[in-house]
Amino acid sequence: MQSTGTLALLGGQPVRQKDFASWPRADKNTELNLLEVLYSQRWAISGPYTGAKSFERRFAEAYAAFHKVQYCVPTANGSSAITIALEAVDVRAGDEVLVPGLTWVACASAVAGIGAIPIIVDVEPETLCMSLPAARQAITARTRAILLVHQFCTIADIAGFVQLAAEHNLPLIEDCSQAHGAQWQGRRVGTFGVVGVASMQQTKVLTSGEGGAAITNDPYLYDRMQQLRADGRRYTAQVPAAGEMELEEIGSVQGRNYCLSEFQSAILLDRLPHLDTENHLREQNAAYLLSLLSTLGGVTGLARRPGTEQTTYYHFCVRLQREAFGQCSIEAITHALTAELGILIEPVDTPLNKNILYNPLNSPRTAALAEIRAQFDPTRFHLPNADEARSCCLTIPHRVLLGDHADMESIAAGFAKVQRYSHELSCIDQERK
Ligand SMILES: *Cc1c(COP(=O)(O)O)cnc(C)c1O
Repeated sequence: MQSTGTLALLGGQPVRQKDFASWPRADKNTELNLLEVLYSQRWAISGPYTGAKSFERRFAEAYAAFHKVQYCVPTANGSSAITIALEAVDVRAGDEVLVPGLTWVACASAVAGIGAIPIIVDVEPETLCMSLPAARQAITARTRAILLVHQFCTIADIAGFVQLAAEHNLPLIEDCSQAHGAQWQGRRVGTFGVVGVASMQQTKVLTSGEGGAAITNDPYLYDRMQQLRADGRRYTAQVPAAGEMELEEIGSVQGRNYCLSEFQSAILLDRLPHLDTENHLREQNAAYLLSLLSTLGGVTGLARRPGTEQTTYYHFCVRLQREAFGQCSIEAITHALTAELGILIEPVDTPLNKNILYNPLNSPRTAALAEIRAQFDPTRFHLPNADEARSCCLTIPHRVLLGDHADMESIAAGFAKVQRYSHELSCIDQERK
């Protein structure tokens, strides 16, 4: 490409040539676990018992112990963890569920997937998590649950939402897909609501490619969630003889198959003990990176909620003052940064009232519910804070935070360069208009 400017996006020399830390991670022990499954003749919990505890059960026990809770039900992905949590607390078709307006689409699509109506609530500008006052206003007589998400690298207003849920006698479900291992006031997130769910999809900080889990201290919800994820079956009370099934048929709820395979469980069991160490390293590097970015002017981090003891950086999210970047669009700025650094730097999610991935009116399921179609219409919600965040916040993937100080310095150098040459970018924005 012929150079038309100094910025790498316009053909200039990029700030960073070398790759950053890689993700996902695996080592010899991960490999040994996988090989053990491969030759074990048990690849699924719905396969015959082989005389050894399944990796799925071992992971469930380890993940519950990690959170200091009684129970964990692993699932095929985060979406199915949300689904079984909602069905376990008896959310039904036509019921309303509060979800934040700025998060991954699955939070709304899983609700709509069981025929319930996602009520899309605006976020707090400081943390980009669901706003408590906006949630309070959104509650109606039909509200049946709250799905609270700890977003990017922040912790939602747990105290406020626990109280709001109690006042209205609503189950609070915490979605920790972006906050594995985060800790607030002495406890891990996911343990404050009646159920805590998480995704272990490839981009998350604990991952098996695809995967999920739901944790709870409630034996009744545990029993329901077990059945909801295994076609109405649950683990037998007694260890079976080798060759027999470890699942018994109960059918007190309509289950489906959302089981996590033994391969995925084997990976998660191996990686879980690394989570705290990795979270700690990410937190230290994030603090250093933020200190560097803060000296540029016009770049600030999100708020750390009082009581936060461990932050999980899923995406490192910062807010830009676009005046400090020549008034360029967030798209132009993120493209320029991506070109300088060779990592995917993106704006935050598109708010769910205008996100192309959230399209419930095009679902045959919703179409069948003619009388409540209007209630599914995402455009009826107004999300000024989410819109504002979409126009001036950007995210950096967590893998770079597993590097060293020199890595953080080159990221900051990328920001400084894009800021310094933002006049070159203004031209791109002009051309697009
Ligand atoms: C990733 C994610 C999900 C969805 O998880 P899948 O495993 O992709 O189904 C749900 N909620 C949040 C907040 C997420 O970040």
